[in-house]
Amino acid sequence: MITLKEALKLNSDDIKKLREDLALNIKQSNIGAYVEQLTNSDITTSGEGVPIAIKDIINVKEWNITCCSNILKGYISPYDATVIKNLREAGLSPFGRANMDEFAMGSSTDTSCYGKTLNPHNINKTAGGSSGGSAAAVAGGIAVAALGTDTGGSVRQPAAYCGVVGMKPTYGRVSRYGVTAYSSSLDQVGPVTQNVEDAAILYDIISGHDPLDSTSANVDYEAITPKLDANKKLTIAVIDNFVDQASPAIKKGFDKAVKALEEAGHTIVHKNMLDTDKILSSYYIVATAEASANLSRYDGVRYGNRKGEGGLKDMYIQTKSQGFGDEVQKRIMLGSFVLSSGYYDAYYIKAQKVRHLIKDEYEAIFNQADLILSPVAPTTAPEFGTFKTSLEMYLSDIYTISVNLAGLPAISLPIEKDEDGMPVGLQLIGRAYDEQTLFNGALSLEKSVNYKK
Ligand code: GLN
Repeated sequence: MITLKEALKLNSDDIKKLREDLALNIKQSNIGAYVEQLTNSDITTSGEGVPIAIKDIINVKEWNITCCSNILKGYISPYDATVIKNLREAGLSPFGRANMDEFAMGSSTDTSCYGKTLNPHNINKTAGGSSGGSAAAVAGGIAVAALGTDTGGSVRQPAAYCGVVGMKPTYGRVSRYGVTAYSSSLDQVGPVTQNVEDAAILYDIISGHDPLDSTSANVDYEAITPKLDANKKLTIAVIDNFVDQASPAIKKGFDKAVKALEEAGHTIVHKNMLDTDKILSSYYIVATAEASANLSRYDGVRYGNRKGEGGLKDMYIQTKSQGFGDEVQKRIMLGSFVLSSGYYDAYYIKAQKVRHLIKDEYEAIFNQADLILSPVAPTTAPEFGTFKTSLEMYLSDIYTISVNLAGLPAISLPIEKDEDGMPVGLQLIGRAYDEQTLFNGALSLEKSVNYKK
């Protein structure tokens, strides 16, 4: 597949051809990366720009955006999210809805109402989640690039499982206007691409202050792609207690990356962080609390497929119990519980305190290092059905979620393949608003490890 950088140089006839070829390839593919076939009007009339796959949670005017939930089937978006407006202004256009876990809650893209996404490297394995469709489309050669959202790892982890690049910007860098909220203080839109430079290009396009989003950071934006420099020598911290918990295949990839970084002239320092179980508890309290508030709007009155004929209460009950899947219902209940009077102080307030602690720990590390190198997930992509309970699945998020709790930018990139041919991905984490250093380090790591697709 042509890279984004190359695609942006094409003339309009070539772009038209690219869109047509892509539509055909999508039709023939069987990994469930997209939630529906493209129609002729998608291919020719929905803008003539370079095609970008869009996670089904980002609003595109006149598209049926559903967050892969039955509750929103048939909902037609009346407007473009700011990131979509930014794409169009830069000569790109949304092309195909990428599959995801329902309302972005999950780590395996198997709770979508449209069915699951398969990993292009091995169809018995998950593509990761929740932006599994975006990552599988790029890895499977059926997208030039894609947008996903990352609340607790949902861009970085599927990218790692599928052997592509996935980036989560600093909280506030990218507008959330028009991006359906899962957990408002954690969500960020991020690029999924074939390489680091494409991620920088797409990141530059979607970033910047947006008056329509009150949580968007009102800071000057300077494009980072023109200043990308893989030769800057950096100090990179390794969090030893994180690495200790990873599988042998991830540890092996980690050692390779550390060696490659040292050979490239970077300095490695060793650090430790708060126990991952504390991070996990804090994340799943904050995320479910915010989710329960955000999802209350799907009540059959304002949004959602209305169900139930037995009066108001019956309508609420039927709309929600028929519209939401099990995992989403579980999280609404958990979130309502931790916010309820009597438990608010014991759970929610405590989780916010731990969140602060995590932020402080990162700050302390960044006093002595420019970047942090960490695993993305404890293993390579697991087979479907590996996790028997939700809790087992939550445990696979231990390395990604603290980054969202602290609001930091991070990028995941492929390092090598394990013995079974599955990609091993690692992430670099940066200081808030210092995406330039993050991308410089990622470019250097990409060059030094020389991953073969
Ligand atoms: N797996 C995490 C969760 O289920 C992260 C999801 C995400 O980043 N959207 O909450």
